[in-house]
Amino acid sequence: MKTFSYTRADSPEAAVKAGGRFIAGGTNLIDLMKLQVETPEALVDISRLNLNTIEERDGGLLIGALVPNSDLAAHPRVIARYPVLSRALLAGASGQLRNKATTGGNLLQRTRCYFFYDTHAACNKRVPGSGCDAIGGFNRIHAVLGTSDQCIATHPGDMPVAMRALDAAVVTLKPDGDRRRIPLGDFYRLPGDTPQIETVLEPGELITHVALPAPPAGARQAYRKVRDRASYAFAVVSVAGVIAVEDGRIAYAALAFGGLGPMPWRDAAVEAALVGQAPDAATFAAAADALLADARGYGHNDFKIPLVRRVLTATLRELTQVQP
Ligand code: SF4
Repeated sequence: MKTFSYTRADSPEAAVKAGGRFIAGGTNLIDLMKLQVETPEALVDISRLNLNTIEERDGGLLIGALVPNSDLAAHPRVIARYPVLSRALLAGASGQLRNKATTGGNLLQRTRCYFFYDTHAACNKRVPGSGCDAIGGFNRIHAVLGTSDQCIATHPGDMPVAMRALDAAVVTLKPDGDRRRIPLGDFYRLPGDTPQIETVLEPGELITHVALPAPPAGARQAYRKVRDRASYAFAVVSVAGVIAVEDGRIAYAALAFGGLGPMPWRDAAVEAALVGQAPDAATFAAAADALLADARGYGHNDFKIPLVRRVLTATLRELTQVQP
């Protein structure tokens, strides 16, 4: 094991000045360190910081980065106003992991690409320039959207998919004291030629909160996840939907997808195909066509393309059907 230093920060300002890799729940980073996939020289423990509250703010919620996934899923305001978020959180990991995993850490979890975790495999994300054993290799869990010839990994999260559909923003603190509010749609980077750089966070920048705006009035919400077993499995495909129907037409649509791309995937063309239209089979097919216009399978993951078409259609049916 490579040695590393350990510092416990007593304030966010001290944490960003400490210089090192932040650790809170450790549910992903510790595994990666045990496997020598990540070998930080310094760890800065932020788990004791006062960033574990959920407050009402500007009609929405301001969620501390250290709020455990289980607490966020069970919060009465989340259940009442953001059920898609609660459902997505409860669809992720296991009860034990949700008790430890934090809101900020969940946004930053690394891909579950098998080759990323295997230090004997070629992986541009782990060792830039080493190649990609998933391209031309076994790639059943890999991406069909947003890939590059350097990396075809997916983002593994559930919570971030729901947050993307809810127009969340990430609030950060930088070492120079500046704060940023980054829309989640601008937070993740496509792999391109630098798959090892996954977000727009700068060195030493700390996620302190996630801000959720008020949910759209009258919209229904759903999270549908397809996975290989009933629990404790990452999404093969998932859909987070927020849809409002007025006078027989879709008045508002926000849809985000997991398991398809290197980030929680959202495409304005999908929503443009829905808004103003009647909620029928032709409209749903047009939305799926828009989503999959640039989709590309890599062999073992080809099945995701017809699968997400069916999952999207089922989600749209659920959200637009007339309630008794
Ligand atoms: Fe590495 Fe990305 Fe290729 Fe997986 S898909 S082996 S993470 S470069």
